[in-house]
Amino acid sequence: MKSASKFEKVAARCWNLLNEGKPFTPIFTIGTMLLFHVSSWSSLFFWESLLYSFLFILPLLILFFIFDFPLFLRNYLWVPFIIFLMVWNSYSLPLLSLSLGLYFFFTIFFWGTIYYHLRIGTDWFNFTRFWKLVLKNSDSTSGNAQEQLPKFLLVLSFWEMTRAQVEQGVSIDYTPILIFYIGLFMFSMILHRYLFDWKPPVYGQYTDKSEANSEAINQKVIVLVIDGMRKERFYEAKTPFLDYLKENGTEYTNMETVYPARTVVCFTSMFTGTYPFEHGITSNMVWKLGIKVESIFDSLRKVGKKGRLLGIAHLVDSMGEDVETVTAVMHKDEADRNIIERAKHIMKQQDPDLMIVQLIGTDQIGHSRGVLYDEYIEKIEEADALLKEYVDWLREEGKLENATIVVCADHGQADGIGGHGHLDEGERFVPFFLHGPTIEKGKKVEERHSLVSLAPTIAYLLGAPFPSHSRGKVLKEAFIKRESKHHE
Ligand SMILES: [Zn+2]
Repeated sequence: MKSASKFEKVAARCWNLLNEGKPFTPIFTIGTMLLFHVSSWSSLFFWESLLYSFLFILPLLILFFIFDFPLFLRNYLWVPFIIFLMVWNSYSLPLLSLSLGLYFFFTIFFWGTIYYHLRIGTDWFNFTRFWKLVLKNSDSTSGNAQEQLPKFLLVLSFWEMTRAQVEQGVSIDYTPILIFYIGLFMFSMILHRYLFDWKPPVYGQYTDKSEANSEAINQKVIVLVIDGMRKERFYEAKTPFLDYLKENGTEYTNMETVYPARTVVCFTSMFTGTYPFEHGITSNMVWKLGIKVESIFDSLRKVGKKGRLLGIAHLVDSMGEDVETVTAVMHKDEADRNIIERAKHIMKQQDPDLMIVQLIGTDQIGHSRGVLYDEYIEKIEEADALLKEYVDWLREEGKLENATIVVCADHGQADGIGGHGHLDEGERFVPFFLHGPTIEKGKKVEERHSLVSLAPTIAYLLGAPFPSHSRGKVLKEAFIKRESKHHE
């Protein structure tokens, strides 16, 4: 099957500029302004007034880049817009109408219909579903209407007002603008400081190095990640194979993902054992390629072992050469099948000690069709059958004689365009269980744990040192005790 081409890797990065909420706001407002004034493009004076007035809204764009007003905080974004209207009473109805038209065209038709049709083969009528998802979405992407609308309406109104003033030679009164900005900055600070209180707690210390295990318990570890599989939807789906692993292995019933719950961030945390502030990957939009810390792959290299991660092109931005890419441009009903074929091939050719497989079909359907519809459940059920096939194949090939299988999701998904990022309902706790000859059977661990524990746990199982900045706890509750200790 096809791996991601160089073009796709670059295209994926470009798409992120439009898909992530933070870069979208400036790109969208600048694009809208240019389009609105298309008839003035030949006038040098227009460009002067546009650039000069841009300086007045630059602080606003920076502020919205720093603060993305997650989840219900987005409701507060109407406050500065209303204050702006009350103080300056300046807005251009044609400009604001154009911006609304462009926004809904971009999200519902360009993204929700054309883009998804070309990339994963959703049908041409996806807009009939997608508009609902855009209105509900709470995630920090561009497809979050309730966050993007008040942001770009304010930026555009402010920009057009100052631009017109510059053009007409009216002298601009700086004082109210300065007061407005100071007020808005304080408002944003206070909101984020006091109301944004749902980030998961972070392990304050590194994984205790004295606990490292130099003697491998397992020959292999197989990690099967079903991207974006929401936990209670997984429980609702009919998944006999995964249920078998779960019931005959150890399940962590309160396994928490990291913040922000974006795929590349989560994967990086899972396989470095630490958080975005330390590994440096803070969104799917990776500005500076590569991680700042060691990964599980580095740990394995130190003991002459090898790990491979088969996943989407975005993951290369974070973990580089250790990633085997799959193209994400594939019909939604073929992607996971192809990934499984490729996963067999990699195991055959390279025989890695750690094999990580990312299935993307469930996440794709969550984004394009919503998580509360039947199609999403069907994808989970398909994943179950495909993973059974892969695991059966591994067993026949003799790869599972002493192996631990880990099944998990990198994050759940909220309602809307199956958004994930700010840990809305359905995103935070993920399915997580281990199965294998050295894993306790039928055990449930209810204590809260974090996905950052995956890297140190794999290191422990394969007899490798912990990655340099690993903070997760080794998930020892799941291991069958090798020598009986004094107490239970
Ligand atoms: Zn994901």
